[in-house]
Amino acid sequence: MLDLKSASKLEIEELFKNLKIPLYRVRQLYHWIYEKNASTIDEITEFSKELRKSIAREAYISNIEILRSQVSLDGTEKFLFKLFDGETIEAVLMPEEDRSTLCASTQVGCAMGCLFCKTGSLGLKRNLKANEIVDQILALRRNSRKITNIVLMGMGEPLANINEVLKAINLMTEYLKLSPRRVTLSTVGIIDKLLLLPQMAPPINLAVSINAGDNDTRDFIMPINKKYPLEELVRALRKYPLKRGRRITLEYVLIKGINDHERDAIGLISLIKAIPCKINLIPFNPYKESIFQRPDEVDVLKFQKTLTDRGYSVFIRKSRGSDISAACGQLKGDYT
Ligand code: SAH
Ligand code: SF4
Repeated sequence: MLDLKSASKLEIEELFKNLKIPLYRVRQLYHWIYEKNASTIDEITEFSKELRKSIAREAYISNIEILRSQVSLDGTEKFLFKLFDGETIEAVLMPEEDRSTLCASTQVGCAMGCLFCKTGSLGLKRNLKANEIVDQILALRRNSRKITNIVLMGMGEPLANINEVLKAINLMTEYLKLSPRRVTLSTVGIIDKLLLLPQMAPPINLAVSINAGDNDTRDFIMPINKKYPLEELVRALRKYPLKRGRRITLEYVLIKGINDHERDAIGLISLIKAIPCKINLIPFNPYKESIFQRPDEVDVLKFQKTLTDRGYSVFIRKSRGSDISAACGQLKGDYT
């Protein structure tokens, strides 16, 4: 049986040819699966009963299952999904006045091993397929949740799964009717993959987890820095082509006593010179077993001021949903 969501267009065309179904029906099928959110072949009422029957003998539509949802005091909602092979992932929906952003996962676990991240402590179980990434949106829309923006900032490193992530981005912008400016990919900065993005994806937003102002600190908290050190990362960002008026978002997780000192801010400033950017400061969100601590409020504000004094736009990210372990870095994809 062919899964019409994970199959390539070519495989579906092949199937339709064999079934003597004209190929314009493939386009209709995509429309029904992704725009009209059909979860079974039988729901595709634009196809005759006969036609649906004949397709259903050879194919089906897979759907990820919502195992649990939890609502935080601040309105943030966390979802636990079950995949076809029993693996589980999480996604977080953050409703605001004018938008509703879904933080979606791209991998089951993550191989990057950042020391401050719960997902990183799990290791990588497997990559998600494009349809499993997009299904996080479809499943929630089917359950009447409104989604206007996507951030690929859930479990996993998107650029370590670039092929499926690119396919998913294309589905989002082509069929799910999300404008590329409402989609953001966040990465630790796998440079060779990063440089492919402008040619291979529509003009989505880029966020880079920089997290330190010098290599020693970054080496310690982000092992990937040994392979792609800061000076190479910022060189790549300097030449990253941006649409007019757009900026790269630099994310900086502030960890008490590790990277929250004024000298870290000064290091960061000299590093990011000439990169059109805005900066998001994320005070470290603790989780069970974490070895780090949240920074003191005064140090967060001081850090912010050092950067704003130099003319940068700097936002302190509220840790949304921390009471249900839905904040950045707390996703683990299980029940406990
Ligand atoms: N792998 C990608 C996207 C997922 S992580 C990346 O690292 O960019 C999304 C963001 O959460 C990153 O900016 C990361 O630095 C941040 N993060 C991870 N663990 C955190 C924690 N415990 N507290 C606060 N932010 C955290
Ligand atoms: Fe992976 Fe991002 Fe967590 Fe690092 S911060 S371990 S890259 S999910």
